[in-house]
Parts: sequence; C-alpha cells; structure tokens
Amino acid sequence: MTERSDILHAAISSEGNSHLRQQDAGFLIRGKHVLTSSEPEMISDGAVRVVGDTIADVGSFADLSARFPSSVVLGGPNDIVTPGFINTHGHFSEALVTGIAENYALSDWLRVLIDAVAPHLDRESAFIGTLLGGIQMLRTGITLTNDMFVCDPGTTPVTPGVVDGLEALGLKGIVSYGASDRRPGTSVEEAFAEHAALREAAASSTLSRFRVGIATVAAQSPSMFARSVEFASSLADGVHIHLHESREEIEFIRQSRHMSPIAYCAQNGLFASPTLAAHCVWLTDADVRLLASHGVGVAYNPVSNMILASGVCPVSRLRGSRIKVGFGVDGPASNDRQDMLEAIKTGVLLQRLDQLNPTALSARAALRMATIEGAAALHLDTAVGSLEPGKAADLVVFNGDSPALANVHDPFQAIVYCAGPREVKDVWVAGQRRIADGELLGVDVPAVVRESRRLAQCLAQRAGLGALSMLATSG
Ligand SMILES: [Zn+2]
Repeated sequence: MTERSDILHAAISSEGNSHLRQQDAGFLIRGKHVLTSSEPEMISDGAVRVVGDTIADVGSFADLSARFPSSVVLGGPNDIVTPGFINTHGHFSEALVTGIAENYALSDWLRVLIDAVAPHLDRESAFIGTLLGGIQMLRTGITLTNDMFVCDPGTTPVTPGVVDGLEALGLKGIVSYGASDRRPGTSVEEAFAEHAALREAAASSTLSRFRVGIATVAAQSPSMFARSVEFASSLADGVHIHLHESREEIEFIRQSRHMSPIAYCAQNGLFASPTLAAHCVWLTDADVRLLASHGVGVAYNPVSNMILASGVCPVSRLRGSRIKVGFGVDGPASNDRQDMLEAIKTGVLLQRLDQLNPTALSARAALRMATIEGAAALHLDTAVGSLEPGKAADLVVFNGDSPALANVHDPFQAIVYCAGPREVKDVWVAGQRRIADGELLGVDVPAVVRESRRLAQCLAQRAGLGALSMLATSG
C-alpha cells in the first residue's frame, strides 16, 4: 500500500476502537417496538440489555430499567429496534466500478467489466474498496456481510486488504476469494495461495471469518473444482459460490458436464461443507430437492438480478422446501448501491410482481430473511441474527421521530416499506456503536472518498474501460 493509505489505515484503526467505554458496565437500548426475529417476535416499549459484545437480556423497558437502574439508556421511546442485517452476498472487489456497464447481461458484463478489472486490483484497492462499500452497508443497518472478492491471483496477495478494511470499519465479515481458472494462463497454485493468505489474515482478525470461495462451477476446471472441494472439507470453514444465476451458466455445464451445476456440486461432494449459494434463479424440482437435502442456504439478490436481467429467484418455492433464504445486496458493480433496505423492499416487491400476488412475501417474513434466516443460510444462526440473550450484540435503531416513521401502524411494514438509510439512527456491531445519530464513528469518510477517487481513476485507465468510463479518459 502507499504511504497515504497507511496513514489513513492507522488513523482509522486507532479512532475506530477508542469510543464508548460504557458497555463494560452494560447498557440498555430501548424502543417503542423491539423486533426480535425470535419469540416473542415483537416487544412493545421494549429494551435490549447489552454487556460487552453480547445481548444479556431482552424484555420490557419498564422491567429492565427497574432491574438495572444505573444502566445508561440509549435508543428512544419512539424508536424501532431490530437485529443487525445479514448481507448474504457481496463483492468488495467491485467497489471502485459502480454506475457503469448497464447494457449487459451476466456473461457479457463479466467479460467487459469484471474480467477487465480483475488483473488490476491490489491490496490497497481491496482495502479502500472495502471501506467505501462497508460504510454504505453500515449506514443501512448491515452488521455482517458475506463477501467474495474476485481478482486475478498473483504473486502478492490482494484479499487481506478486505480483512484490514472490515477491521477498520468494525464490520463483521465472512470473507472468501472467488477462485477461478477460467481464463487461460491462470495459476491454480497462486489462486490457492490467495485463499491461504486470506485465511491467515482472517484468523488474526476479530471480525472476519474465512470461507472457501468458488466463483462458479463453470469458472473452475474439473481438477480445480475437485481441489476446492477437498480444501473446503479439510478446513470445515464453509463455502461461498454462485449457483444458477443465469440460464446460460446452466446450459454450459449441462453440455460440458451433463448435469446441472447444483447436481455437479452435490455429486462431487461440495455440499458436504456448509454452503451458501448466491442467486439460485433457475431451478428444476430436482435442483430444489438437492439444495434442501444438503442444507444449502441461498442468497436472494433482487436488485442485481434485475440489473443484469437474470430472472427472479423463486423465494416462496425455496422457503416452502425449508431452504433458508437471506437477502444480498450483491456487488457494487451489479446493484450498484450497497443498501440493505433497498434490497429488502425491492425483494418483496419483485416477488409480488412476479407472482401477481400481494401475499407473495410479507414484510414480517422479509425482516426475518434479512436477519435470522440470512444467518441460518450462512449457518451462523446460533451466534447472530436475532435479539436473544447470549447472542452477539448486533443491533439497529431506527429513528421513530423521523417523518418517514412518524406514524407506525405496523412496525414490520414501517421498516420494510417506509425506512431508508436516513432512518437508521444507531448501528451496533458486537456491542460497539459504529453509527451514532446517522454518522459513522471513527472513520474519516471524506478521506476514504478522496483515496477511492484516485484508485478508481487509475483502475479505469489500467483496465482500459475507456468506452465505458469517463474516468478512464480524464486527466
Ligand atoms: Zn455475486
């Protein structure tokens, strides 16, 4: 990394950990409506008691304030409190190429944009890109993101920059490298060295956990895929893969390997590892049965599926088969916002429109998908995803005094249909307040934006995006 980024990194790290010591003694976060994603699902005039990085109690504010009279009280009497949102699919590798290449479906979009950028990403752009995307995530209530970084493997590891960025932000991450040997000349050894470097970085981090990334079945030769399966099963860390995003992908595998990508994963042992499959748009009944019988979780990415004209994930069919489905904002190049509230609302509307049915997906179900069901899709629901004693203190406080939430007839519908990033007042990750009154703590946001401009221009020029990007041709 350059000296400038080192300075930025150091400043962010030291500031980010220096706020709010009150959690040592425990504190209460109160709300008019506490939506737990557990039982009971809603507590009126409720509160959550946080001690350290953990939820100690959940109950009525009257009871908890009587039992713990000296506790600091945060939140407010009109606010709505929810668990932190679980983003089940994203790519920080795309953070510097937003608002570009709108006219392409998946395979052409990969070719003209993602493949062009992939050789030119380095650890510094991974770090700044993670900050840029992660700031947006935190501002929309995301407290944990499942990331797959896609870049060409080289002699110097790139992906540890993601772990550095998450640590600086205080954002939890499940980190993976989207390994591929699809393009001629790619070194499989270097790809596995990238996995190893990311895994090592995550192991020394408090907020990141490693998973084995596989870009797609089509992106790996059969021999590389077999090695990925073996690697995943030897580590027991879990797997993150794209599956059945487009019909073209399925057709390609059917022709070359004589079965669907899902059947190929099942037959070759991938699903023996806890697996999160992104997209799952085009599915036969046999595919759905395989996902269900192997406990594969699914990331539903409505905005990205619409932007790339991929199709509509059959959410009701999947959930009806007891498959856990969470929401994903997907990468900044195919969304292009990193806004969970946008993804949730869009996801509900898309299901209703697709089925021409106003009961296709309720606000209550959507909020569960964004929290506990997303956690379950990632096989993390014993630790995060709901407001219950013993779980991680990952919470969002929505400002009940804002115009959009002034009159709450149903708090679930208020969050899904009315709330935007402006209504996100406070966000807590592992008992640390990361957003306070809508402002990110401990991060020099203008400095991140400045650094990202320099890197994005450099990337656009090096990647030869001249036909797509004004940045590539400006001085
Ligand atoms: Zn993706």
